[in-house]
Amino acid sequence: MLVGCPKEIKPQEFRVGLTPAAAAEVIAHGHKVLVQTGAGIGSGFPDNDYTDIGAQIAPDADSVFDDADMIVKVKEPQAAERKMLRQGQVLFTYLHLAPDPDQTRDLLHSGVTAIAYETVTDRAGGLPLLAPMSEVAGKLAPQVGAWTLQKANGGRGVLMGGVPGVGPARVVVIGGGVVGTHAAKVAAGMGADVTVLDRSLPRMRYLDDVFGGTFKTQFASGTNIAEQIAQADMVVGAVLIPGAAAPKLITKAQLSTMKPAAVLVDVAIDQGGCFETSRATTHQDPIYDVDGIMHYCVANMPGAVARTSTIALGNATLPFLLALADKGWRQAIVDDPHLRAGLSTHEGILTSPPVGEALNLEA
Ligand code: NAD
Repeated sequence: MLVGCPKEIKPQEFRVGLTPAAAAEVIAHGHKVLVQTGAGIGSGFPDNDYTDIGAQIAPDADSVFDDADMIVKVKEPQAAERKMLRQGQVLFTYLHLAPDPDQTRDLLHSGVTAIAYETVTDRAGGLPLLAPMSEVAGKLAPQVGAWTLQKANGGRGVLMGGVPGVGPARVVVIGGGVVGTHAAKVAAGMGADVTVLDRSLPRMRYLDDVFGGTFKTQFASGTNIAEQIAQADMVVGAVLIPGAAAPKLITKAQLSTMKPAAVLVDVAIDQGGCFETSRATTHQDPIYDVDGIMHYCVANMPGAVARTSTIALGNATLPFLLALADKGWRQAIVDDPHLRAGLSTHEGILTSPPVGEALNLEA
């Protein structure tokens, strides 16, 4: 099979679908790899990293889309890319079709067999191809929050770990899933005093078992959230209700109860945000002030650390990619119902019931 990897064209996207290490494994399994020139540059992988392990370099996207049996990407195909997809070809990438009727229509029209990273499942009921990006965003949250806390950036001028004789910053993390746990670990590692609030008792039992002593847990009732945010220097929003918009857990009126120039980092902004005053920002202009409270709400946080994110994503996608290449997509999804959960479109048929429901289409 010829596995093709085009350069991402979505603005500010520096990740690449195939690392040289992953490409080497694909080649070791007897397949060919075709990478568009410059595809890996944003993640620190020049063309010769790919040619060194036996991949071929294509001069443009057309050559990759024309020749490849399977296209491996990061972001959903943009309109120009969708025109190059065809029946008989497999597309393996993030799709996020539910809010995107134009893309869904184009994929159906192309006939491509599209498998979405974000709906592939695992035995524990998790989303193994989404988790690496949540890990990255979670670990970044205290880092960007600490920067925002600096006086020159509008924050309270509080150091995360304090110094001898001066106490640490108080960090409150709302949502103790993948993002929240990684955020809490890093904030605690920086020396902050950290509390994680969640509504899931099993999750808090797990966090307490594993991290008791490193950070505290508390049930996410409205009263507890109100008490915690009044004392916080930084609040990280990390909740998720699968398939739904994030609940608004801090209102605009509550901002006046917070310490002046405290910082809100809303990681859940890609699901609409969990603070009433959140609106999506970009890496170019990441923070803004509402009523004296600094907000950081970048919707694609992993893009800030494209190299780490690319490698983390590649580690997670590789076993699925090898199964698709070795067995062909039909046998691969018969053998693995978790990969089957990613199948979204095939030869003009929508195969994802949740997407059908969201877009009012037959699936
Ligand atoms: P997850 O499912 O692992 O964790 C979500 C947690 O939220 C769960 O533990 C759940 O019990 C808890 N929760 C749900 N409702 C709650 C409530 N009302 N109060 C308190 N806790 C509540 O999800 P995740 O992978 O950690 O993702 C969290 C959010 O981060 C999602 O919205 C995800 O899309 C987003 N995310 C954003 C970026 C970015 O770049 N901005 C990157 C990755 C993930």
